[in-house]
Amino acid sequence: MTFSTDDFDFVAEHARDAMLLQTIADTLEWDERTGMPIDGGDYRANQVSTLRGMVHRRRTDAKYGETLQSLSENLGDEDPAGDVAATVRGLLRNWKRDHRLPEELVQRTSRATVKGQQRWDAARRADDFKMFRDTLAEIIDLKREAGQRIAEGTDRSPYEALLDEYEPDARVEPLNQVFQDLRKPLVELIDSIREAPRQPNRSLLERDFAIAGQRDLSRFVAERVGFDFQAGRLDETSHPFCTTLGPRDCRILTRYDLNWLPAGLLGTLHEAGHGMYEQGMRSDWFGLPPGSYCSLGIHESQSRLWENQVGRSRPFWKWLFDRTQKTFAPTLDDVSLDDFHFAINQIQPSLIRVEADEATYNLHIIIRFDLEQQLIGGTLSVDDLPAAWDARYQSDLGVCAPSPANGVLQDVHWSAGLIGYFPTYTLGNLASAQLFDAAQAELGGFDDMFARGEFEPLLSWLRSRIHERGQCESGDALISRATGKSLSADALIGYLNGKLRPLYGLEA
Ligand code: ZN
Repeated sequence: MTFSTDDFDFVAEHARDAMLLQTIADTLEWDERTGMPIDGGDYRANQVSTLRGMVHRRRTDAKYGETLQSLSENLGDEDPAGDVAATVRGLLRNWKRDHRLPEELVQRTSRATVKGQQRWDAARRADDFKMFRDTLAEIIDLKREAGQRIAEGTDRSPYEALLDEYEPDARVEPLNQVFQDLRKPLVELIDSIREAPRQPNRSLLERDFAIAGQRDLSRFVAERVGFDFQAGRLDETSHPFCTTLGPRDCRILTRYDLNWLPAGLLGTLHEAGHGMYEQGMRSDWFGLPPGSYCSLGIHESQSRLWENQVGRSRPFWKWLFDRTQKTFAPTLDDVSLDDFHFAINQIQPSLIRVEADEATYNLHIIIRFDLEQQLIGGTLSVDDLPAAWDARYQSDLGVCAPSPANGVLQDVHWSAGLIGYFPTYTLGNLASAQLFDAAQAELGGFDDMFARGEFEPLLSWLRSRIHERGQCESGDALISRATGKSLSADALIGYLNGKLRPLYGLEA
């Protein structure tokens, strides 16, 4: 048999069809998380689960699967990193995964997670883990069952099968290794910072920053770094995220805190980084692997790069500080650029992951990575989770939440069924540092460019190396090709030491 163009067109059309339905469900979920009245929840759960069921039926269709299988066997001399091979490989991979999950399980999971997010939200507001306990237990059971079904007959654990959905081909052991490589020098750095001769003045960022000003400044920054408002919007929500509803429609969401400037501003830069990745993909391949994100780790590398390597750099603030002072005048009139920049780079173990600094952040992730493996593996019960959570925060970060809202209830992920998702955040941090180093080496230094508010060269570099490549290669291959070496902890450690030691008056 030879490669059939008709068959290729059939599977491509079929996949685009499924994406059409999926983006309708995504639009309903965007609405649910931005402005839907609370009483609309039950009916919305039915709407979304009906659509997800339709998507699942399309994606598990037998003829579609057989055609993909036969295309995959007849790829011949197609370039493995080309669009055609990537399409067949990616769609077949998804088909195999979906095929192993019965529709009834998919629908039950969808209903449980829509309800889960509502219960989580209510429980967090009431600061009461018991209100969330039953729904979480149900979600863990459903995800464990899914993991078992997907892993059946392979050498993967159920947890690895779940992880694979977000980080294709990732295995727990190498992940543990790179996290360990990161952990030791990170803890050393955090310890010496604790004892450092100089300390920043955090309270500069806790003054009153009028929300209207934060909105203006955030939108200005998102636009200047390159988020395209013709093909995207910026809105507000309680738990920021980014979602793509069509080839030219990317939604980013942020939240503003009157007394914590970085939440809104750097949070917006973070989501704009996600959004620019989505906007940088080739829209003629929308709904197919060449026009889809590579992995969540790669996705997060894009958001982190703009939030941290750019947004916490001195040249960036050399550019933006004047405008920031004017926006909030007279709030920052007595503050120098140096003091502001130092404050925005404060390193201090804290309770909340999304507010954590770029060094301690990774310790938050390692805790979640360990706990969710235990939940899926059945060695930790949902009833014991709050105590296990608090114990790890005490031993790893030296802090303990006074109540669950700031502890085990702080993240939406588990309530949404996102298990195996957390480690991708740290993978993203590692990749962002490595990509930024490579881009800087190639483009000859960003200091002057950033100080002029010029970000286009960096964005173009990311577009051609990462965004336009979609899923044509694995995350590891993309990083290796773009940076000349495989992913390791070296660049992130080098970056953090290089920036933080001088700020804190520590020896290099
Ligand atoms: Zn992110």
